[in-house]
Amino acid sequence: MNGPEIERLIQLLGRLPGLGPRSARRAALHLLKKRETLMQPLGTALADAARAVRACSICGNLDTIDPCSICSDHRRDAGLICVVEDVGDLWAMERGRIFSGRYHVLGGSLSALDGIGPEELNIGSLVMRVSAGGIREVIMATNATVDGQTTAHYLAERLAEHDVPLTRLAHGVPVGGELDWLDDGTLATAFKARRAL
Ligand code: ZN
Repeated sequence: MNGPEIERLIQLLGRLPGLGPRSARRAALHLLKKRETLMQPLGTALADAARAVRACSICGNLDTIDPCSICSDHRRDAGLICVVEDVGDLWAMERGRIFSGRYHVLGGSLSALDGIGPEELNIGSLVMRVSAGGIREVIMATNATVDGQTTAHYLAERLAEHDVPLTRLAHGVPVGGELDWLDDGTLATAFKARRAL
């Protein structure tokens, strides 16, 4: 029906989270109609981001500099590490201006179902950061899902020998809730009311 370029565009857009085939077609058509004002700037922005963005070698955050702007900001407390599953969770915390320490991005959660074990996540680098010393608290801000909680408990076991206080986010995070979907007030409350793990 369409040219192969259009079909390919629709197919790629359809791989984005939240876009089914129907919304991918709508998005593709919208882009084609707004070629100069949207499609070309978007293409440039995608190429620029693909070239410039990398994972921070300390915390796993995505940024154009390494160490990332959070790890290299000396006003932020290097003695506090907030462990999150994904960069989206870090963004949620930063949006709410909840936390002024540093982060550690795991890159997912342990999942027997999806075959994700400790080796697939940024766990070794977290253990190294903690064992290097100077950490006063590790805050587990993994999702309130079964996998997120399993991951937090696994990390608590791995970090146990280092004798660093571990906390986790408290009430306000609904069971099954992912941090990125919480409103900023709820996330801030859960963060403030964190308790020992
Ligand atoms: Zn970083």
